[in-house]
Amino acid sequence: IIQLYGPLNWLGTYYRMIQQAFIDMENMFDLLDEEQEVLDIPDAKEIMIKHGEIEFNDVSFYYEPAKPILRGISFKVHAGQTFALVGHSGAGKSTIIRLLFRFYDIHGGNIKIDGQDISLVKQESLRHFIGVVPQDTVLFNSNIMYNVRYGRVDAADNEVISAAEAADIHRRILGFPKGYDTVVGERGLKLSGGEKQRVAIARTLLKAPTIVLLDEATSALDTRTERNIQTSLAKVCENRTTLIVAHRLSTIIHAHQILVLDEGEVIERGTHEELLEKGEHYASMWNEQLTKHEEVAGTESIVEEG
Ligand code: ATP
Repeated sequence: IIQLYGPLNWLGTYYRMIQQAFIDMENMFDLLDEEQEVLDIPDAKEIMIKHGEIEFNDVSFYYEPAKPILRGISFKVHAGQTFALVGHSGAGKSTIIRLLFRFYDIHGGNIKIDGQDISLVKQESLRHFIGVVPQDTVLFNSNIMYNVRYGRVDAADNEVISAAEAADIHRRILGFPKGYDTVVGERGLKLSGGEKQRVAIARTLLKAPTIVLLDEATSALDTRTERNIQTSLAKVCENRTTLIVAHRLSTIIHAHQILVLDEGEVIERGTHEELLEKGEHYASMWNEQLTKHEEVAGTESIVEEG
């Protein structure tokens, strides 16, 4: 029995390691579509992240040499602060997040976390400190307990439940036919966009990373769900360095710093107030969204009345 137990135990640990490594590689990175191109250097060390200060220094990057994507991007995110990336579609926002996760190596400049160049450390150790709330969360064909626990596979049941409570999905789960044993995903109970986001939030709370990457969904949830989700998201970001790719500017009003990107270059930076005051790119994006919002709000009230 002892002889058998050894390898099985080892396999279990190994399996969990693989699972752990994949947690953050959810849809956001369209992993299945992208080959993994990055190798650790031979004597790569484990990264030590205590504070979570992020630095991009003159970073240049392309997917194909003929088409530069980021040109000389520099910024610093202080530990515990919230930093937002905005800009038109294709500006390079998600690319910045992928680079921080080191899905690609860069072609100029450097990226540092707590002063350590991320190209010199083990990728796995880097990803251990980073949690992701992706645009669209992958659910496994398993029960909801398993799906939330995926944030930290060795979490005890009561920890999973606390995370679900904090993400404000616990009561909803209790309302499912079999509570936490309810099978979700393709062949089970289908969760709404908002519920899936809450699962992602609960997972990230369980993982308790130093750095959180948040890729805001492009498809808007209804306004009330959106507002409730914001409260749960705020919990995930609390006391953590947070990088948000924002599509709705209303979510980043309180960000410590906003970076406006256009065609791979920084065209503006500042706080919401500073950028509104400036009255240029960000301000016009803001006004554009306000107008759209008013139009949508108008339609909603017509529907309600009808
Ligand atoms: P969105 O708001 O639409 O998500 P974004 O600002 O996040 O846009 P990125 O996803 O960073 O933009 O893409 C920046 C540019 O890089 C786009 O022109 C895109 O077509 C290109 N791009 C993204 N991924 C790849 C890839 N794997 N291979 C080649 N080009 C890519």
